[in-house]
This record gives sequence, structure tokens and C-alpha cells, in this order.
Amino acid sequence: MHADLLIRNAREIVTIAGRSEAPLRGAAMRDLRVVDNGAIAVKNGAIAAVGPRREIETGFGGSPDTVVVDAEGGTVVPGLVDPHTHLLFAGRREDEFLMRVAGASYLEIASKGGGIARTTGQTRNARREELLGIGRRHLDLMLRQGTTTIEIKSGYGLSTASEIAMLEVIQCLAEERPGTIVATFLGAHVTPPEFRDRQKDYVDLLIREMLPEVAGRRLAEYCDVFCDRGAFSVEEARQITGAAAALGLQTKVHADELTHSGGTALAAEIGSASADHVNFASDVDLERLAGTATIAVLLPATPFFLLAPRYADARKAIDSGVAVALGTDFNPTSSISSMLFVMFLACLHMRMDPSEALTAATINAAHAIGRADQVGSLDRGKRADLLVVDVESYRDIPFYVGRDIVRAVIKNGQVVAPVGWRQAGGEAIISP
Ligand code: ZN
Repeated sequence: MHADLLIRNAREIVTIAGRSEAPLRGAAMRDLRVVDNGAIAVKNGAIAAVGPRREIETGFGGSPDTVVVDAEGGTVVPGLVDPHTHLLFAGRREDEFLMRVAGASYLEIASKGGGIARTTGQTRNARREELLGIGRRHLDLMLRQGTTTIEIKSGYGLSTASEIAMLEVIQCLAEERPGTIVATFLGAHVTPPEFRDRQKDYVDLLIREMLPEVAGRRLAEYCDVFCDRGAFSVEEARQITGAAAALGLQTKVHADELTHSGGTALAAEIGSASADHVNFASDVDLERLAGTATIAVLLPATPFFLLAPRYADARKAIDSGVAVALGTDFNPTSSISSMLFVMFLACLHMRMDPSEALTAATINAAHAIGRADQVGSLDRGKRADLLVVDVESYRDIPFYVGRDIVRAVIKNGQVVAPVGWRQAGGEAIISP
């Protein structure tokens, strides 16, 4: 068989192969199944084979139609999966960054009209074409940084019409980019200003009006709730996620991000797909999570960027047996969109090993959004989503933070980045 695409001359190929049925935990997160000096054959957008160079080139090479990517001694890893983003929003909040630098906290900025409420006002007023353009720009940016599968939340509409409009834009983006996007309904982000002092009525609106429409029109796979001080209580989150589950949606919880408010325990109790942030989760919460299928999605870019240096206890989580994933939490107030940068933060500030960080950014992140059967590892038959990175070993990825190490991004078997690459005589030349 001739391959459509052949990647050769990789010093290391990280496959994470053969174990996609369940998220990886404990020591298994450090076992990446690396092939040295190997090659990869791609056919019809999917991985056809990964193995020793000679074997793959003999079995799959030899056609002038085969595009050959020379990895030039770099490392090949599965395409990165970002299971938690708020990338669709209008307006700018760069000034809040300066307020933080001057000493204001997240809750102080929110009380002065900043934060989520501000973006909600701007997003409600945005035209559909404008939101589509913003979404495309952010997705292009993240693709260049190596993110090939991505979750996008609504949550800046906070009315039935505006939340549905956001989800329709996400659906449109998903149709434009096959196999890339997973939609999450986050109507329970915060209570919008017009429901101030009557939060119960907003919860009723979520349950009676928004959720049935979202589920009925299949506009999202997940329902997420921000369970924390200044957002929704554990009891409200339990009601909302219960209603979502009854309508066939899976659930996620923004849990214990700002305070120890009980979100992690709730996620474990109700069997959420993920408990996200868990910065303030207790040891007992994490031990409880370890006994469930709920994945802890750790988001170290948020405390880093918000100058709120309380990171999730990743060591405790992994050593207790919690399945850990990583995400960017890219949003209007935290511009970090690179999963490679998040892997650096995970190693430096949460003491994760580079192997654990890569597992958390690929197969476990894919599990957190229900895509582990399609992406997250280089198994035969999965989508050919992968990166060539300019390092001798995956273990060097965190060390080279700030350096542009992404040499090529391949999505569904096509080289999509860098933009400057060109093809000559069947050989793909990645221009510097
Ligand atoms: Zn979030």
C-alpha cells in the first residue's frame, strides 16, 4: 500500500499506543511507548502504521504521489487536545491585566464591572459574522501552536437567545473544521446582571428553557457549571447538572477554582466527565476523585496569568490515581492559548514529569471530551493528527518554553502548518 503521507527521520515518535479504552492513571501516565528513529505512514487521513523507519518505508513508500515530511531528527507527538477553552468571545479586556498588575484581584475586578459580565455585554452585541471571524482567528492560532482538537464553551450569552447564538456559531466552526471541535453549554457561567438578586429565577430559566433547547437541537455534548463563590452553589450546580443529564447531556464542573466550595466532590458524586481547575480541592476530594471515572482537568495557565498562584496539587492527584488532563482555559482575561506552554507550567509549577504532562495534553485530554477513540495517540486507524517538534526528545519540550518548536502540524493527514511550508518533487520541505 502506498501512503498518502510519510513522516520519516524522527528521532523519537511518542505513540501512547494501545491503551485508549480508559484514561491513564498513576505510573501509566509516564509510559509513553516511544519508537526511536521511526516513521509514520498516513492513508486517507488516518494513521496506517507507526514503526521502524525501514519497515514503514518499504511497506508504504515508493509512490511519487506520497508526500514525504522529513522530521529532520525532531520528535513526533500526537496532536495536542485542549479540553477546556472559552475562545469564543467579543470585546477586549486587556486593561484588566493592567489592573491585576496594579494589585486588583479577580473578584475585585468583577465587582467593578469587569470580568465575565463585561464580556457578556460585548458578546451579546456582536454580530454572528463577527463572532465567526473571532472563532476562526483563535482556532487558526491554536492550530499553529499544535492544538488539533479543542473544546469550546458558550457562556458569554447568558440568555436563551444569546447562548443559542453562541452554540450555533460553535456548530458552524465545527462544520468548517471536521474532527476538531467539541461544544459545551456553559449557560451556568455566572448569573447575568438582569437576574441580580434573583439567581433562583436564572437557574429556573437554565433548566426549563435553555437546557431543553440545547439538548433538543443537539447544540452541545456537555453541560458545564461554574460552581464557586460568585457563581453557582453546590446545590444549584447539582440541580443544573441533574437536569442536563436527564436530557442526555454529559456534565462538567468548574470546581474549586477560587475557593474550596465543593465542586470537586460534587463532580465525583454525580459522575461528571471532568472536574476542572481543582486548585482548592482537598486531599480527601482528590482521593475520592481517584475512585471515579471523572477526569481532573488542570488549568495552570489561569492562576499563572491571574497572579493568583494557587495551583492544583497535581502530584497528589496523580499519585492518588486520579486521571489528570491539562487545558489552557483560554478566555478573554487569560491569553495563553498554547498547550505546549501549559505543559511547561505543569512541569514547573505543578511538578509534573514531562511524560505526565504529554499524556495529560493528549490521550487523557481526549478522554475528557469523549474523543479518545479518534485522537490523543498514534494508534492505527485514528485520525492522523500529529506534530513534528524541533526537540531531540519529548522530555525537552518544557525546557524550550518560549521558543517556537512546532516545525509542522498535521491535521486529518494534511500538513496545515506552518503556513510557509512548500512541497517539491513529492518531498515536503518545511521552510525555516
Ligand atoms: Zn473555564
